Formats: sequence, C-alpha cells, structure tokens
Amino acid sequence: MLDKIEHLGIAVTDIEAANKVYTALLGVEPYKEEVVESEAVTTSFFKCGESKIELLQAQNPDSAIAKFIEKRGEGIHHVAFSVTNIEAEIQRLEKEGFQILNKIPKRGADNKLVAFLHPKSSHGVLVELCQEIDAG
Ligand code: ZN
Repeated sequence: MLDKIEHLGIAVTDIEAANKVYTALLGVEPYKEEVVESEAVTTSFFKCGESKIELLQAQNPDSAIAKFIEKRGEGIHHVAFSVTNIEAEIQRLEKEGFQILNKIPKRGADNKLVAFLHPKSSHGVLVELCQEIDAG
C-alpha cells in the first residue's frame, strides 16, 4: 500500500529562477537544496502542508531531466508516494504487472530510498516510491 503523496517532482531549466517563482507561489523558501550526483540533478524542496514540491534541474545534457525537458518541456516530471517498506512494495507492484525501473532501491534526494516505475505502466506518469532512511 502507498501511504500518501510525498511530493511532486517538477522539471525546470533554471532552478534559481524557479525557486523564486515557487517561493512566491507557496509563500515559503525552499528548506533544502541538494545535488544528487547519481542522477545528475540539482534539487530544491519546498514544504506545502503535508506534501512537498521538488524542483529538479539537470546538471548536464545526459541527465534524465534534460531529456525530459527536451521532449516535453518544463513541468510535472513525477509523482512520489511514500511507503513504509519499499522492498515489499516493489515486489507487490511487480506482481501487479508494473515495470520497475530499479528493483534495488537507490539513495535519492532528501534522505530517501527511492525506486521508479516506468510511465508506460501507469498511463504516462513516472511514479516514484520513497521511503525515509532512518536517522539512527
Ligand atoms: Zn522525487
């Protein structure tokens, strides 16, 4: 079972400009900015009630975010659902017929273990599963 929508990921070309726009929109500044080297992205996170907004800017043209923007322009890139047991959810969703892009969860931004489902599996939406990494 997926617990809740944890965040929406939004692909942007200029994260500094986008930070200003989303600060104005949400009424709060980003609480975190983080580079995820493995994905070649710079991210920033905003809180909006229980949910979050993640802005993603590509660090180089080979990044998945750069390719996404090239094809589809800026905009919503993925929907992230929080889960309490990511391995169990990967197994469950694989049995349900979803195509899992990384069956071994990897370390993502914002202290999370993450796995992605192919958008073809879910009517065009890239789905991220994320599980908080225990602090201690
Ligand atoms: Zn995300």
